[in-house]
Amino acid sequence: MNSKTSFDLKGRVAIVTGASRGIGRAIAIGLAREGVSVVVNYVSKGAAAEEVVSEIRAAGGEAVAVQADVGDLAQHERLVGAAHERFGRIDILVNNAAMTRREPFLDATAKAWDETMDVNLKGIYFLSQAVARVMAAQKSGKIINISSVHDVRAMVNNSIYNISKAGLVMLTKSLALELAEKGIQVNCVSPGAILTDDTRPRLADPAYRDKVLAKIPSRRVGEPEDVVGAVLLLASPASDYITGTTLYVDGGMLL
Ligand code: NAP
Repeated sequence: MNSKTSFDLKGRVAIVTGASRGIGRAIAIGLAREGVSVVVNYVSKGAAAEEVVSEIRAAGGEAVAVQADVGDLAQHERLVGAAHERFGRIDILVNNAAMTRREPFLDATAKAWDETMDVNLKGIYFLSQAVARVMAAQKSGKIINISSVHDVRAMVNNSIYNISKAGLVMLTKSLALELAEKGIQVNCVSPGAILTDDTRPRLADPAYRDKVLAKIPSRRVGEPEDVVGAVLLLASPASDYITGTTLYVDGGMLL
């Protein structure tokens, strides 16, 4: 059988940032179901991360919860070290954790800019560098960045987030270009509206929900699990010739 067409992920090791809740949680559980050992990262909700680890172990998988703020470069070693010490290698990095600050442009502050960019761009850039050094030595690896439809479509009162996600697309292309010859592929998965702790309060408002649904040809808000298939594809050998690209998972929202 040609390994180029394989979706087999058994025995791989992944770090998933922001895996205690929402989309990151679904990705961690989805990878583990395919036989991947997972470092479940969180920033403050340790109990939620431990629940994800328990769910993975109960299903026969391997996982460990590791606290680290992606926006603090000094904490990255905890993630890389945990993957190495616990599982011996790193095959997949899913940069999922991100910050959103919803405020009008005229009220935006430099503090909000710095805090958002520290996590959404600087943190991802340097965590990817630390992990890519390990992957380069292994001569293979997959970096998957969770962006957003707002990397191409501006969202009102969310300019800093929009800009960070647009930057993430270029981060993806730039890293993909330099890492391709080292056997490392770097891609983005950009979700549309997904029901998570972040979006649930606003989507509970029927008027807002109807406005969102009107923009989605599939006529439903996505579940975190809707994002997992794209990540599994981009983590697997079947996508070894795909790099620097962005896959939109949005029920057709951008159409
Ligand atoms: P969420 O439900 O709010 O969960 C956020 C996760 O990120 C939590 O696990 C949180 O950890 C972690 N986190 C936050 N800041 C962190 C930091 N500095 N370091 C490490 N972990 C951190 O988020 P979500 O809605 O699933 O979004 C996940 C990703 O999808 C983000 O990149 C977001 O931009 C993107 N996205 C979401 C949507 C959507 O509709 N939900 C749409 C497009 C794109 P704790 O549990 O410890 O707080």
